[in-house]
Amino acid sequence: MKLKIALQRSGKLAEGSKELLRKCGIGFSNGGDKLRAEASDFPLEIFFLRDDDIPDYVADGVADIGIVGENILAEDPKNVEILEKLGFGRCRLSIAVPKSFEFASIKDFAGKRIATSYPMVLSKYLSDRGVAADIHEISGSVEIAPSIGLADAVCDLVSSGSTLFSNGLREVETVMNSEAVLIRRPSLDDERSNLLDKLLFRIRSVMAAEQNKYILLNAPSDKVNAIISILPGMKSPTVVPLAESGWVSIHSVISEHDFWEVVDNLKRAGAEGILVLSIDQMIR
Ligand code: ATP
Ligand code: ZN
Repeated sequence: MKLKIALQRSGKLAEGSKELLRKCGIGFSNGGDKLRAEASDFPLEIFFLRDDDIPDYVADGVADIGIVGENILAEDPKNVEILEKLGFGRCRLSIAVPKSFEFASIKDFAGKRIATSYPMVLSKYLSDRGVAADIHEISGSVEIAPSIGLADAVCDLVSSGSTLFSNGLREVETVMNSEAVLIRRPSLDDERSNLLDKLLFRIRSVMAAEQNKYILLNAPSDKVNAIISILPGMKSPTVVPLAESGWVSIHSVISEHDFWEVVDNLKRAGAEGILVLSIDQMIR
């Protein structure tokens, strides 16, 4: 009995998806054009598919779980359950206009032609704001639509914005934010459901670890209280005496989010020899 997972075969989610499994201690061969792989150390079978097909495969039970962008589910909702946001594949669906388009507000799109691969999401966004535009669905290379006279504006996925920029387009409105999510089919037998719990536990440990750092530092004993008050930590930090009397070593876990600010404050409070290590897994 194996759990079956659907991943994007090649494209912007492919690497992140495979890396996540590897960080969970799951090895598999990444053999070029193969559509299927078996994991070596977890009862998992991996299908490599086009991202657009993943929700369908999961809803139909061909795969039990899958990794896909929230944008795909928003455009074409399927009978799948979102289990976890995965923190990669971050992008936004944005409306962008050529330099010549004088944009002041969303109302300026009334009667204008907008090219997009996300007609459902876009039309809901516009109608919620009382704007009636002419939406042209195209499946690829949306960004060239204005330059060939097909549209007045585009609504497309953006991460850095460099593709828009190189096509002379300017982002003016964010329609939705998206990242990769883990989805499951609604009905799973007990055995597969147990495997999924095991996998989810690992995924959550990996994600927690990525958001935190392990920090070690030395401090004079009389500064310990001041330093501890700066460290949020999981529980209370570990304080161990150093061979040199009057000095201690303090160990704790800090969030990557406010990392630099905490380090600055620690230095100011008298911490020395600060070491910061990344964490592989964090079991809660
Ligand atoms: P496929 O061949 O699997 O259909 P695709 O060309 O439709 O691939 P990609 O461009 O690889 O898809 O994007 C896959 C997903 O990656 C998107 O649906 C989105 O969730 C995410 N993504 C992250 N950043 C970006 C970006 N800058 N542009 C497009 N998609 C992005
Ligand atoms: Zn696709």
